[in-house]
Amino acid sequence: MRAISFEFIRLAVIPNGLLRGQGIVNLLSVKELGSGNQKRYDVLIIGSGPAGYTAGVYTSRARLSTLIISGTLPGGQLMTTSEVENYPGFPNGIFGPELMMNMRQQAERFGATVVDDEVINVDFKKRPFILKTHSETYSASAVIICTGASPRKLGIQSEQQFSGRGVSYCATCDGPFFKGEDIIVVGGGDTALEEATFLTKFGKSVKLVHRRETLRASKILQDKAMENPKIEFIWNNIVSDIKGDKKVASVMVKNIASGKETTLDAGGLFVAIGHEPNTGIFKGQLDLDDKGYIVLKDHTRTSVEGVFAAGDVHDHRYRQAVTAAGFGCMAAIDVERWLSERKNRK
Ligand code: NAP
Repeated sequence: MRAISFEFIRLAVIPNGLLRGQGIVNLLSVKELGSGNQKRYDVLIIGSGPAGYTAGVYTSRARLSTLIISGTLPGGQLMTTSEVENYPGFPNGIFGPELMMNMRQQAERFGATVVDDEVINVDFKKRPFILKTHSETYSASAVIICTGASPRKLGIQSEQQFSGRGVSYCATCDGPFFKGEDIIVVGGGDTALEEATFLTKFGKSVKLVHRRETLRASKILQDKAMENPKIEFIWNNIVSDIKGDKKVASVMVKNIASGKETTLDAGGLFVAIGHEPNTGIFKGQLDLDDKGYIVLKDHTRTSVEGVFAAGDVHDHRYRQAVTAAGFGCMAAIDVERWLSERKNRK
């Protein structure tokens, strides 16, 4: 998978007629419900990455009325990638946006409604659960949270400009596209060390830029990286700027003690400084761990009965499209069983 720009998504997806007008149509149909007219669903799925759509395929196929609220980026993180080479079933790869539109259409085929809107408030204390978006209020007997996580950003201006043009947040996805390039990895945790080691398979050289002179990563990953002759460590430095024309050509780093800036030639910059789960709206409603990820108990159940979670919003270990899809399937099966147990109890 390769990170690409939103412009690319527009060019790649709209000519195929896959996305055209769909979001607008869905938003209009929501408005038609009218304010104060809460529509009740068996299952409401928040988020439309692989976890959300897969959950939607399963719940709608199980004849549960299903609403998927897509979030601000319908299709999730895969909408910002080009070719996905490691999703099973596509021997020649598939474009991320196309894969996500296929998943969406598959969920819709079984009757799931997808609304391109963002959930801004939830009330998990009331039954049925109440969820508000920018344009509507919904209620649901069960909720599956699939809001994912977002890679932490460096926060410098040029980062956004070169995102998908040499700046990447996933070495597993994009590494093979950087064959023969000088690569820079930022971060000092397990991900940065694992990615730096992985990227030596493709890059001419790999420099690891870390803001301190000790690493957070586990000893085994440190040893592996330090033994690798292709990896050079640049300690006590932060990335201060990224330069290039159409794509990354060099990266400026700044020594945090001396303030000295150095320009490093680089065709790729991998930012591996952690992820942030998209759980802001669930604070105070669900148990979250110290990093903000949803805590699960008993498979996909959260701390509130009837609220389930799937994908990167609780999984900070694997973070793959295929694992997220698997979790979505599991949560849907758990929801189906939970709803039928409750029905039988009544
Ligand atoms: P992490 O452990 O939170 O490490 C993030 C790294 O990025 C830290 O070294 C941190 O520096 C640095 N950093 C954070 N913000 C920064 C900024 N604004 N500018 C520059 N550097 C910044 O994240 P992670 O490496 O993604 O790992 C997440 C979790 O997944 C961890 O629990 C990890 O053990 C696990 N994981 C496990 C494996 C494995 O077992 N094979 C592989 C990958 C991840 P400081 O050190 O100075 O804070």
